[in-house]
Amino acid sequence: MNECIFCRIVAGEAPSSVVLRDELMTAFLDIRPVTPGHLLVVPNAHVVFVQDLPDATAAHLFEVARRLARALRSTGALRADGINFFAADGEAAGQEVPHAHLHLIPRFSGDGFEIDAAAWREAAPTREHLDKSAARIRAAAGVRQGDELKAPIN
Ligand code: 5GP
Ligand code: ZN
Repeated sequence: MNECIFCRIVAGEAPSSVVLRDELMTAFLDIRPVTPGHLLVVPNAHVVFVQDLPDATAAHLFEVARRLARALRSTGALRADGINFFAADGEAAGQEVPHAHLHLIPRFSGDGFEIDAAAWREAAPTREHLDKSAARIRAAAGVRQGDELKAPIN
């Protein structure tokens, strides 16, 4: 038996409340919704990290997410006031299910869901510090300074 719960849901071997399924993606309700309508959009093929998805699958993931976000906002569904697109990518980021997925969390004013960070209670970093971080990430991504706007995606 496949040990990955999302693979089992995709295969129809575990129960789930599916809202959309196509050849690349399955979207279903989270079993422990943060707010009503909390969805997970999951690639059908098992990949742990978002970065390892084939480009076409990653693009389609976001297309499906946008379509469902529109639905969550519409009068026909939940009439969400806003939506958090959230991906926990890696254990340190809070990933509990090691099968890449995107959360769509409908937001309503006063819904009790809060995002917090200790750093927000400290002084903001200096521009110099931010520039150094930007330089490091540019180097790792193979983007030359001045080329930020025309950097290829791959
Ligand atoms: P993450 O890996 O992004 O931190 O969280 C995984 C999410 O999957 C959690 O929100 C959790 O409630 C949800 N989840 C875990 N097991 C199941 C399951 O068997 N069915 C469904 N529908 N959701 C699940
Ligand atoms: Zn899986």
